[in-house]
Amino acid sequence: MTKQFSVPRGTNDILPENIFAWRSLEDSVRKLVHLYGYQEIRTPIFEETELFARSMGQTSDVVQKQMLQLAAQPKPEETGVVLSGLALRPEATAAVVRAYIENSLDKKEPLSKLFYIGPMFRGERPQKGRLRQFHQVGVEALGPGSASPYLDAEVIALAVHLLEALGVEGFQLKINNLGSLDDKKNLSKWLREKLGGRLSDLCSDCQDRFERNVFRILDCKNPTCREVIAKTNLNYQECFSKESVEYFSKTKEALSALGISYQESMQLVRGLDYYTNTVFEITAPSLGSQDALGAGGRYNHLVEELGGAKVDAIGFALGIERILLALGETKKVLAQPMDAFLVVLAPTLLSKAFQLVNELRQSGVSVDMSYHPGSLKSQMRMANKQGARFVILLGEDEDRKGVVAVKNMETGEQKEVNIKNNLEELIALLNGEK
Ligand code: AMP
Repeated sequence: MTKQFSVPRGTNDILPENIFAWRSLEDSVRKLVHLYGYQEIRTPIFEETELFARSMGQTSDVVQKQMLQLAAQPKPEETGVVLSGLALRPEATAAVVRAYIENSLDKKEPLSKLFYIGPMFRGERPQKGRLRQFHQVGVEALGPGSASPYLDAEVIALAVHLLEALGVEGFQLKINNLGSLDDKKNLSKWLREKLGGRLSDLCSDCQDRFERNVFRILDCKNPTCREVIAKTNLNYQECFSKESVEYFSKTKEALSALGISYQESMQLVRGLDYYTNTVFEITAPSLGSQDALGAGGRYNHLVEELGGAKVDAIGFALGIERILLALGETKKVLAQPMDAFLVVLAPTLLSKAFQLVNELRQSGVSVDMSYHPGSLKSQMRMANKQGARFVILLGEDEDRKGVVAVKNMETGEQKEVNIKNNLEELIALLNGEK
């Protein structure tokens, strides 16, 4: 038997019947981010592996376990171009920062407000809401002008407004302050002091995290670790500088002024090294175990660490598949119905019909026909499937008279239109009610 190929594990085909939901989501996103002054950026879907390792941190789960690398170990028998040292992007922040530095965007504006929509790739164990190729919409605001609690509030508000505009209900926003880079060092020390005595009660992953990335113990899902954390008084802001505590207070004030409700959570730490100060996460409890719709935060040192200027930055990413899941079953409809479908009533008229269809397309009318025209009924079925607003009927009678019959599929009204000398009348009719 001939082998049948399947879509790779953890990836999905997005079929024409689902495109409407995707396109309308993307259109709403584009409209809304424009209201906030964000411009689109598109970066390649692969970058140097080292870029991700350096930005996300060697100890992060994504870098340790989920990177999809291109030909990490090229084999001699491999054919085609072998790309090594490259990985499919697990997220876009590192790539956007790379592009920001490489294209000297910092010299063009004090604040670059960028957004992206596109596929991301992680070598995950697939399950509902967890894919190997998924899509994110995200924003990044980078530059010296980024250092303002109003911008933190703006970015968080934008994420919330996006979800509201898309119709997602019942989601929850959690925020936290991780402090500046120095505060984070103090926080590591503080956490090690607090948790050191309970090490044997923590899961083996957390015992490992204790040295490598102690913050991650705070969001471990293991029940025994949760119990240890629940019994620890996490008033760690006491080891932060006055400035970063004040900055966070102002961010919260600005959020409240915008009427955004949030919950403060000391356990929200985010998995990546680059976060500083404000971090946030939005969840939809209706989604079950994979309930994160999106997350983000400040990364005030990443641009410098990747070789750029010392500028602050903040951003977020929302998962599009998760948003669609939260919205429930979406209407399966054609994204773009056709203007017309040409029904050919005699095989001898095929070549004439072919020409007519092509002339109409040249004039901006979307129109299709069958090159194996069956009965009137079967062609009408095809017209309906394509959502045609008009059906153009060409039979021997019409041909003799130099006309076509045009049926308005909504009203059922039908009339003859002359096409002997030119197509103007027909084009005007078909374009008329767009
Ligand atoms: P993260 O960078 O991991 O915080 O991801 C941001 C958002 O992207 C998450 O909140 C999810 O909505 C989405 N996301 C992340 N990983 C996946 C995945 N493997 N499959 C589907 N969506 C994902």
